[in-house]
Amino acid sequence: MSRILIIEDEEAIAELEKDYLELSGFEVTISNTGDGGLQTALAEDFDLIVLDLMLPGIDGFEICKLIREEKNIPIIMVSAKKDDIDKIRGLGLGADDYMTKPFSPSELVARVKAHMARYDRLVGSNQKNNDIIEIRGIRIDKTARRVMVDGVEKAFTGKEFDLLTFLAENPNHVYTKEELFREIWDMDSIGDIATVTVHIKKIREKIEYDSAKPQYIETIWGVGYRFKV
Ligand code: CA
Repeated sequence: MSRILIIEDEEAIAELEKDYLELSGFEVTISNTGDGGLQTALAEDFDLIVLDLMLPGIDGFEICKLIREEKNIPIIMVSAKKDDIDKIRGLGLGADDYMTKPFSPSELVARVKAHMARYDRLVGSNQKNNDIIEIRGIRIDKTARRVMVDGVEKAFTGKEFDLLTFLAENPNHVYTKEELFREIWDMDSIGDIATVTVHIKKIREKIEYDSAKPQYIETIWGVGYRFKV
């Protein structure tokens, strides 16, 4: 269930928002002070925050800024003054949406749902990304065709990248040089399979701590290579 935090000092408004959001299936926590709200927002995991601007103690501007330094979740800021909304926009605090009070609770629910859906798409596409292969210290981004080794980007030629990616996508499978040549060079084994050996050597120099004792691409003598997991 998605969790929403409402930071709002006017209790009647907070309760009304809570009721509507709960009816729509959200789990809602209310904080009636700026300081308490900020602490709760940073300490717990929420999927969205509804943040009032004028609060006793630390105000919504500051809270928004501090939450943004730590978290990427949607923040909807609300204020009784239209001028404040313009100010929020102008400050570029990273709020995702702005609403002027009074607003109807169903309007709030609609906006919450829209932001939640958008955020899920963004986060979901990162998490379920099949274009990223991560094996121990190696991270291969297939879309960007970039390789990071222990956090450091290494430059690969096109064929080196294709060969590494193919092996990493099929871990623990032993391939002969002929198979790899056909797979990557796509010339139906007409050509020089020594090319494969040369490319493996170059890849190892980039990804292995010690090329003489490879931890990733292993040589299976008399057969070929495999990516060890
Ligand atoms: Ca207020």
